[in-house]
Amino acid sequence: MQIGKKVVCHQLICLLVGLLPVMFANSASAQYLNGIPVLLYHHVSENNSDLPHLTVTPAEFARQMDMLKKAGFETISPEKFVAYMRQEPVKLPDKPILITFDDGYEDNYLYAFPILKQYDFRAVIFVPGVNIDKNKRLSSAQIREMSVYGIVFGGHSVTHSDLTALSGQELQYEVKAVKKDLRQVTAKTSELFSYPYGYFNLRTWEVIAAADYQAAFTVLPGLNTPDRDNIYLLRRIPIYSTTDFNGLFRLLDTNQVKTKLLEYSPEYDG
Ligand SMILES: [Zn+2]
Repeated sequence: MQIGKKVVCHQLICLLVGLLPVMFANSASAQYLNGIPVLLYHHVSENNSDLPHLTVTPAEFARQMDMLKKAGFETISPEKFVAYMRQEPVKLPDKPILITFDDGYEDNYLYAFPILKQYDFRAVIFVPGVNIDKNKRLSSAQIREMSVYGIVFGGHSVTHSDLTALSGQELQYEVKAVKKDLRQVTAKTSELFSYPYGYFNLRTWEVIAAADYQAAFTVLPGLNTPDRDNIYLLRRIPIYSTTDFNGLFRLLDTNQVKTKLLEYSPEYDG
């Protein structure tokens, strides 16, 4: 019967669609089914009187990387992260993580980069276009060297403005020109963006998506899960000088991370 057939067919499609997440979940371990954590750093420096709150000492950064490495965390490429968020089939390690830096400080090259190399970790650095080659910010040569090693560079606007307060034209400029700046320096296309101060609204998100960025990072708390999170509103865990990293690490390194980490929301002011 025609109607009966339709019903069966419909049920079959429903069943298949319903099974899709399970099929992909089968290729994933319990660990990252809870979502992928993205850490956010700013300064890695011995003494920084300007922004002490946003500064982690090199020794502390090395200790944190050591803990992650020993526990089996592996930094994954942004491509794999994006594929996971799009629910495309992708092979991930048991404990995937992303390490990001905002603002493009020179100390990222001087202190964080050697430590990342020591642990064979990669990272993403979000740079405001105007800061390239400025005093105490990353130089073009430093960016190129890190890019060749596998550090990925993303846009963080041109002037580090609150994007939600800009006119349409200004917003377009802030989002597009930094992509051009980074391409000039790295000879690679910048696919990732992070919102200055974590400020976003629907308009900023739409302009970023239309400018061919694959993903955008906020400072919303918690882990990134494909079912819940939009790829242009990704979550990050900021690491401050005051962060209890051991406490955070215990949450990251368990199977119940999602619920507990959703409660982890330190105030953000960077
Ligand atoms: Zn910033």
